[in-house]
Amino acid sequence: MTDRNYIGSCLCGKVQFKITGEIKDIVCCHCSQCRKAQGSAYATNGNVDSDEFRFIQGEHELAAYQSTPKETKYFCKYCGSPIFSKNTLAPKNIRIRLGTLETDIIEKPIGHIFIGSKANWEDIEGKLPQYKEYEPSRK
Ligand SMILES: [Zn+2]
Ligand SMILES: [Zn+2]
Repeated sequence: MTDRNYIGSCLCGKVQFKITGEIKDIVCCHCSQCRKAQGSAYATNGNVDSDEFRFIQGEHELAAYQSTPKETKYFCKYCGSPIFSKNTLAPKNIRIRLGTLETDIIEKPIGHIFIGSKANWEDIEGKLPQYKEYEPSRK
């Protein structure tokens, strides 16, 4: 299904992309890797099919950091905005950082994950379910 028209970009605007399909399994991840990668209390990440993701410009302005043997995080080499990650276990999946989106989206987060390793200064509020590690639907 390609029925979305979401636009995202990095802070400096050199990297711009478009998402034409659903963003699935959106979670707020409080793990220490996400906290460091975003410089924030948590990262809000969701999955997009690689067929439904296109660069508008700036694909070659991305730098990559291999954070684990299987996962690589991609960010703008000029402004540092985290854009997405890829995992060799799911080569057709783009794990997008939702803070880079400029358009409103119809999908909503399904929960907070890895709250077992959240920062001790953070108070999580709201009605979303909270999971100590991965959300139950993740295999
Ligand atoms: Zn940038
Ligand atoms: Zn995380």
